[in-house]
Amino acid sequence: MVTDPGLLESGSAPAHAAVVVRGAPAEQLARTSPVPMSRPPTPAAPVLAAPTRSEARSAPLWSWWATARRALPWRETRDPWEVLVAEMMLTQTQVARVVPRYRSFLERFPDPASAAVAGPGAVLAAWVGLGYNRRALQLQRTAVRVVEEHGGVLPRDPSQLERLPGVGAYLARAVAVFAFEADLGVVDTNVGRLLARAVVGRPLRRREAQVLADQLVPRGKGWAWNQAMLDLGALVCRRRSPHCNACPWQADCRWAGSGPDPAAGSFAVGARQAPFAGSDRQGRGRLVRAAAAAGPAGIAAADLARVAGWPDDPTRAERVAAGLVEEGLLAWTPAGTLALPVPAGPGRELPRGASAPR
Ligand code: SF4
Repeated sequence: MVTDPGLLESGSAPAHAAVVVRGAPAEQLARTSPVPMSRPPTPAAPVLAAPTRSEARSAPLWSWWATARRALPWRETRDPWEVLVAEMMLTQTQVARVVPRYRSFLERFPDPASAAVAGPGAVLAAWVGLGYNRRALQLQRTAVRVVEEHGGVLPRDPSQLERLPGVGAYLARAVAVFAFEADLGVVDTNVGRLLARAVVGRPLRRREAQVLADQLVPRGKGWAWNQAMLDLGALVCRRRSPHCNACPWQADCRWAGSGPDPAAGSFAVGARQAPFAGSDRQGRGRLVRAAAAAGPAGIAAADLARVAGWPDDPTRAERVAAGLVEEGLLAWTPAGTLALPVPAGPGRELPRGASAPR
């Protein structure tokens, strides 16, 4: 698994998994920006000598996508903050769980300034239930940096985006492509699987996967191409039991389900996660959820083990709680309880450039 160091406990790229919701065709929202964008560094040598056969792959992909495309709420926008929120939510959380939370989160935090001013506790409280709560913290820290260093507007250059907290190579490219329509390849777990299976028929290393993904993008069609690739990976070239007979690339596929799966061990194609039940992750989630529900009163220290789900193992609960405090996800209150970080308010300095809440 890959990608944006610091964002996730397990550090993987988003899996835009299958679920269909209603929405408008997103190309209608296309817009251009007058500011040129630098291309992220990639190796000079091409991965494929005869290339990517993108011309041969384009027509069947467009034809398939014309009827199969998923209508997803984040495809209706080109606002970079809204795109970043979606991509952070989709990192390690399935589409079906993100859809109902996406709009409500954006209603609460419509721009970086609102998240910066609200503080980490408020953003965390709005995030609870999506899992991997560290993402909420990183998103809030990014919001503060965007306000302080970029006038409250996310930069369009991937190299600048990558310097934001929790925004690694994947998220920087995703924002560049899905907000600013850059002609770059976005390699999440679905696309990584597709590249390995259909295009080269072998596992890919990080750099060659990225070069290959970039090579495949038809000029001027970065947004639509990447969305179509995400859909093909999520809906047809599925991790288990790919639907080869329904695949627009079957005739050109380097694998087509015969022999060992080339996606195994390929870049961005995640290994199966350890079971959630009984894991530290489960206890972490319970503690953060309970802290959000408790509000400023927090969780009494004596209740930690029970709340974490390990009533007979207070040592484990204390260890996990200490980790959450160290990461800034929870904080001890003066009363000795465990609560979400204190939100912005009187006496707390606001990020430079941010206005006070109205
Ligand atoms: S033919 Fe099968 S393995 Fe090849 S890209 Fe299509 S679904 Fe994936």
